[in-house]
Amino acid sequence: MGQHLLEVKELHVNFNSNEQDLNVIDGVNFYVKKGESLGIVGESGSGKSVTSLSVMGLLPLNGKVKYGSIQFKDKNIVNLSKKDLRNIRGKEIAMIFQEPMTSLNPVYTVGSQIIEVIRTHKKVSKKEAKEHAIKMLKLVGIPRAEQVVDEYPHQLSGGMRQRVMIAMAMSLHPELLIADEPTTALDVTIQAQILDLMKKLQREMEMSIILITHDLGVVSEICDRVVVMYAGQVVEEAEIDDLFDHPKHPYTIGLIESIP
Ligand code: ADP
Ligand code: MG
Repeated sequence: MGQHLLEVKELHVNFNSNEQDLNVIDGVNFYVKKGESLGIVGESGSGKSVTSLSVMGLLPLNGKVKYGSIQFKDKNIVNLSKKDLRNIRGKEIAMIFQEPMTSLNPVYTVGSQIIEVIRTHKKVSKKEAKEHAIKMLKLVGIPRAEQVVDEYPHQLSGGMRQRVMIAMAMSLHPELLIADEPTTALDVTIQAQILDLMKKLQREMEMSIILITHDLGVVSEICDRVVVMYAGQVVEEAEIDDLFDHPKHPYTIGLIESIP
């Protein structure tokens, strides 16, 4: 395994759509080191989300890994059973999505949803799980955590709901957090707060992060390294400063020029 927590090699993903076999991910390679924060940037439709869903073992039914490997520690995600995937998901690899597409259920309290995540993987009492949930809400900077734990998602702002999603994702102390456009739908000031939070958590919890976004500015805020995706391929990989100084691919050059 070396120092790589995750290593994706020659990943090819196809989708079957209207009787057609579409090649959506076309030979993607990248790695994430332990404790590192990797950005994946690329325009809409370039294959960022499909790549991350592949890593989670969560491709939709019409999608299939055709070729390649996704090595996470000593396991190849591509070959794992549903049961093994369920054991890894949440506990070792967690994922957050764009608010408001995040999966907070409107009919359950914030606390009960975090408690359920904890109790799915850990044999703890409801009371212990609730205490842990409150601790996680405090960790992600939610004020009045003792009350918020009993509130419903609609009682919170979008930024607060995204913090709750992060608390939920962090509640089992995953080694890898995949954040797919986590701040895209948020106001700029809230965006900055969420990015600061992720940076803080990465340091304090020694966690690796994959941050997916179409916004290179967001990546440069918190990432050590970045891969650029274009049309289902990785067209560039660099340390963040090197990317700004010496972009190679025309798409990357355009992306940098478009930053105000
Ligand atoms: P990104 O996240 O970079 O915007 P996606 O990974 O969501 O892009 O999509 C990559 C490509 O895969 C797009 O062309 C998209 O239309 C296609 N795609 C995504 N999901 C499906 C699906 N369930 N069926 C067919 N095509 C899909
Ligand atoms: Mg996407």
